[in-house]
Amino acid sequence: MTAPRYKWQPTTAEIAHRYGLPVSQIIRFDHNTSPFSTDWAASIVAPMARNLNEYPGASYASLRGAAASYLGTNAEHVVPGAGVDEIILLIAKAFLNDRSRACAAIPTYPLYEIASLQQHAEFLAIPRLGPKLEFPLESLGEAAETSDVTWLCIPNNPTGDHLDRRWIEDITNAAKGVVVIDAAYAEFAGDDWTDFVQKHDNVIVCQTMSKAFGLAGLRVGFSISSASIADRLDSVRPPGSISSMSAEIAEAALREPQRMQRRVLRLTKERSRFAQALTKLGLRVWPSSTNFLLCEVGPTAPTVADNLMASGLVVRSFPSESPLGSYLRFTVRAPHENDRLVDALWRHIP
Ligand code: PMP
Repeated sequence: MTAPRYKWQPTTAEIAHRYGLPVSQIIRFDHNTSPFSTDWAASIVAPMARNLNEYPGASYASLRGAAASYLGTNAEHVVPGAGVDEIILLIAKAFLNDRSRACAAIPTYPLYEIASLQQHAEFLAIPRLGPKLEFPLESLGEAAETSDVTWLCIPNNPTGDHLDRRWIEDITNAAKGVVVIDAAYAEFAGDDWTDFVQKHDNVIVCQTMSKAFGLAGLRVGFSISSASIADRLDSVRPPGSISSMSAEIAEAALREPQRMQRRVLRLTKERSRFAQALTKLGLRVWPSSTNFLLCEVGPTAPTVADNLMASGLVVRSFPSESPLGSYLRFTVRAPHENDRLVDALWRHIP
């Protein structure tokens, strides 16, 4: 059997080429990335660019220290990786094999299933239920009882919703193996997981520089866990998957979280304005604890997405067989960019 693989989105350059548009006209509403400039990082990169002949220090001690202070924990609890994506793969590598089982409620971030299957583990996909896609607390709790890895995405991508802490506690207590809380969007939800990790030694929380910190191009993320789990993840971590420049920029951002906090505030305000504008279009907008909005558009959703892409506005659609086949997901971007999308939607929605 061929290993399942991640389906890459087309690149901005490919989309520009396909539709004969200048690259500058393409706006990515599909990646849940940040609209803010990273000019501030230029002064860090310039001197470093003269010293790229050596490898980064494989322990990333300084970066771990900065992440630990930001998260309010000790460095021995933190493992850095090339984005949460690499952390997910490390978790699968450390905890899953052909005799293990993993589970998650779906729809969710697809890499959990892919990483589990690539390790030849069994993957129990527990569907969310009904038209509101309610979280399947009971069936996921039961699956967790026999799973070596239970994947939770909080807040969840692509739905944008949050889980009640008591539910998370129940699943964690019931779980046979490790419980992964992918908290890629934590800052937008105001979540702080440090106490939870201290209380539960089977929990691994994942956080990223890609979303609230607005540094998706760096490829830096972290896990936070007990020291013994951190050591196990470190044992399967490649020595230098984060470049020296990425590590240095990430560290600078972590040491000054106020910039990120101001930007999160601006984006969450803009999220409300954007959601109102989408509601006026007649779309059902889901409540969101993230930097994206999930909207029910109806059966024409994939066609609307294609038409938007042809004008340079790239949104996330879902396969027709998915329970989200009639939905689109939009990243909250800068006000003028969101306005451009809303204007186009007025033209494209029947
Ligand atoms: N987890 C979730 C839930 C995500 O939505 C994403 C990216 N869209 C990732 C992980 C990947 O994060 P990173 O950029 O840190 O690899």
